[in-house]
Amino acid sequence: MPTGLKSSPDDFDLRMSEEARPFYEQVVDFLERVVDPMQKQFFKEADPMNRWGYTERQLELLEGAKDQAKAEGLWNFFLPDTGQGLSNLDYAYLAVELGKYPLGSESLNCSAPDTGNMEVLERVGTPEQKAEWLEPLLRGEIRSAYAMTEPGLPSSDAKNIRTQAVKDGDEYVINGEKYYISGAGDPRCKIMIVMCQTSPDGPPHRKQSQILVPIDTPGVKILGPMHVFGQDDAPHGHMHIRFDDVRVPASNMLLGEGRGFEISQLRLGPGRIHHCMRSIGAAEKALDLMVRRGATREGFGKPLVRLGGNMEIVARARTEIEAMRMMVLRAAKAMDTLGNAEARVWISAVKAMVPERVCQIIDQAIQMHGATGVSQWTPLASMYAGQRTLRLADGPDEVHWMVVGRAEVAAYDGLEVPLEQTSYADPELTAAWAEDKDNSFMFSGPA
Ligand SMILES: Cc1cc2nc3c(=O)[nH]c(=O)nc-3n(C[C@H](O)[C@H](O)[C@H](O)COP(=O)(O)OP(=O)(O)OC[C@H]3O[C@@H](n4cnc5c(N)ncnc54)[C@H](O)[C@@H]3O)c2cc1C
Repeated sequence: MPTGLKSSPDDFDLRMSEEARPFYEQVVDFLERVVDPMQKQFFKEADPMNRWGYTERQLELLEGAKDQAKAEGLWNFFLPDTGQGLSNLDYAYLAVELGKYPLGSESLNCSAPDTGNMEVLERVGTPEQKAEWLEPLLRGEIRSAYAMTEPGLPSSDAKNIRTQAVKDGDEYVINGEKYYISGAGDPRCKIMIVMCQTSPDGPPHRKQSQILVPIDTPGVKILGPMHVFGQDDAPHGHMHIRFDDVRVPASNMLLGEGRGFEISQLRLGPGRIHHCMRSIGAAEKALDLMVRRGATREGFGKPLVRLGGNMEIVARARTEIEAMRMMVLRAAKAMDTLGNAEARVWISAVKAMVPERVCQIIDQAIQMHGATGVSQWTPLASMYAGQRTLRLADGPDEVHWMVVGRAEVAAYDGLEVPLEQTSYADPELTAAWAEDKDNSFMFSGPA
């Protein structure tokens, strides 16, 4: 039967490779042994008077965990070439574990948006661009941001982007406004990849370019943080930024003028489904909290988890987590076997499916906790916000559904309607129905 989700029977072999297994165990152990205690301490050490910075002790804790990860060889494994050479499938198992710890990815230098930016620099950066920006990113010394979205236009269609980059001698002059630029509030963020328009009159897919803009370039004005459900997410932040006559060397252009969409296709690589993999980890965490709470608190003479429809809620959550896990693993495998471009329909399918359902599981875990669920005493409220915003931040759900729907329908292209056929009714079946006086046929079907 035609389908937009291409696969072969081998794609059902979703086992982690033998070589990756010890590595997986090392990562799980590292997260429990080093990251978990470190992050508990890290959050306690925050200075409420300096919300847009880190205290010395916080940096000491985080850098300590990073140094240890490097020493144990658990570093940069998101990059197939530069890192551990993991397949997307093997990486998927690891990312699920990372998703259980807020500082898991960063401790192992695998956090967004740096991963996508590093991937782009690795694939298309010049030797100079790599030396200046990729190397310190790979060493975990600096952080980065990706600036595409603009407040004044629908940015889910990147062809709309209007920030202008105009060539002036050996420089580009950039003017425009961006918002929700994640990570640009972090004092360690030094570089942005900015999507801008270089050929306003060019063909739609050649109008845009991507260019490197150091965040401290004169004319880059951080207007303030955008809020997410009333929180500013300091010190990471999702910043509102204006570019007023920002001048950068022409050599900061990535890949070449008008090649912004080609670069976006590259970002379609592993970075794009890492979020989904981590989301499965978040759903696991939410279900764990849901059951623990429900099983250990009593009301109306029973543990809460046994009241009303709660058992079904738990059962559905577990069943759907497993279904989502299989989908994400299949998407990862499709990337390994078909390549990132061909696997894009799989990628969209999981991006549309996973955060929506994970949001619902976290919401149900919140409900099981009563008021505590929305409080600062559980991670559930911030986990919910994270998953809810993913449904926009990584491209709106609808755009991903559109990609899947288009591919599914395109698989039927060229289908011919048989003109002579006037009725689809099966004559034998119709006759049997007419004979069926006592209606038994309605329930049992023909023998
Ligand atoms: C927390 C957070 C972090 C973010 N981080 C970044 C970042 O680091 N860098 C960055 O550049 N951007 C970032 N974004 C912005 C994000 O990428 C955009 O919000 C997203 O691409 C959608 O663009 P838009 O907001 O302009 O929505 P619009 O394009 O205006 O779309 C609005 C709505 O229209 C509907 N719609 C759009 N297309 C379709 C379609 N094909 N079919 C049906 N309905 C459709 C959907 O309901 C959609 O939600 C972030 C956003 C959030 C909330």
